[in-house]
Amino acid sequence: MSPAFPIPVRPVIQPPPMVEEVLDDAERTALKTRIKALMKQQDAVLVAHYYTSADLQDLAEETGGCVSDSLEMARFGHAHPAKTLIVAGVKFMGETAKILNPEKRVIMPDLAAECSLDLACPADEFAAFCDAHPDRLSVVYANTSAAVKARADWVVTSGIAAKIVKYLHQQGHKLLWAPDRHLGDYVQRITGADMLLWQGSCVVHEAFKADALKKLRAEHPNAAVLVHPESPEAVIALADVVGSTTQLIEAVRTLPNPEFIVATDNGIFHKMHAAAPGKILLEAPTAGEGATCVSCAHCPWMAMNGLRKLAAVLENGGNEIHIEEGIRARAAVSIQKMLDFAAAEKAGQIQLGD
Ligand code: SF4
Repeated sequence: MSPAFPIPVRPVIQPPPMVEEVLDDAERTALKTRIKALMKQQDAVLVAHYYTSADLQDLAEETGGCVSDSLEMARFGHAHPAKTLIVAGVKFMGETAKILNPEKRVIMPDLAAECSLDLACPADEFAAFCDAHPDRLSVVYANTSAAVKARADWVVTSGIAAKIVKYLHQQGHKLLWAPDRHLGDYVQRITGADMLLWQGSCVVHEAFKADALKKLRAEHPNAAVLVHPESPEAVIALADVVGSTTQLIEAVRTLPNPEFIVATDNGIFHKMHAAAPGKILLEAPTAGEGATCVSCAHCPWMAMNGLRKLAAVLENGGNEIHIEEGIRARAAVSIQKMLDFAAAEKAGQIQLGD
């Protein structure tokens, strides 16, 4: 039976051109010295996503900040006493930090750093989708705007999505899922939940190609294939490990394989190399530059972050995240449910059957 409300076919999101910051050693050192002094003056801490540049990741760790996934970035910022949180990542990550830390100043190197999943899910269209299915709970991925989170019943990250969906399914709920169709499809397959899926996708993970991945795997028989579940089903089917960014780094650290083929943004290689020096990391194949690949295993929005922009923001002000309080408070409820679930599950208070 077709859904009562047609699931909108999403327009293709065109990412910006890839512009990566290139610094020589002298400029890098000078920028870092300036930024460190400014951070001290402004009581600021830097939280950076795994997909940002090695320079930003190193700076975050050198200054007592953290490098992590979006949820841990927000959690870290919440627990840290600094009055200013600098979020190096994309806009929904800055918003999530602000949602959980309304009393803090949250700034970003570039507020134009978006995400194709967030852009593919406008709040008014998502609200209409929910209104058309009042019998379903709505579960949204963290890669959404504050307004979409405010309208949703639950927010999930890729690391906990399957557990929460399984739990809700076992409670007898039917679900709406947004915005990533590949992650939603993967979660639906492994949980058996009744889910209607929004049709957004990530421009980076969408570009991984199963046929080329099979060929690369055959050339590297000792390699384990690590895949982020925002990738297409045919790519996920080839994985030895499917997981969130944090789970994939852990796989590189703990698995005995000497080589890994990695299907996620190659910014993560910086942390993987640090976690398992000596192991060989290979990018999972995309269609390649000049073909249909528009992102080629690196997110052009993540690449908008850099040391020059960070120094400029600290010097000149601006780029602060503001969220209307009603939206922020409602979004906080949906995120808090996830945090409470994660804590209860860890404490053994939630049992998920087979
Ligand atoms: S890598 Fe994909 S999901 Fe992550 S920020 Fe970029 S477009 Fe969004």
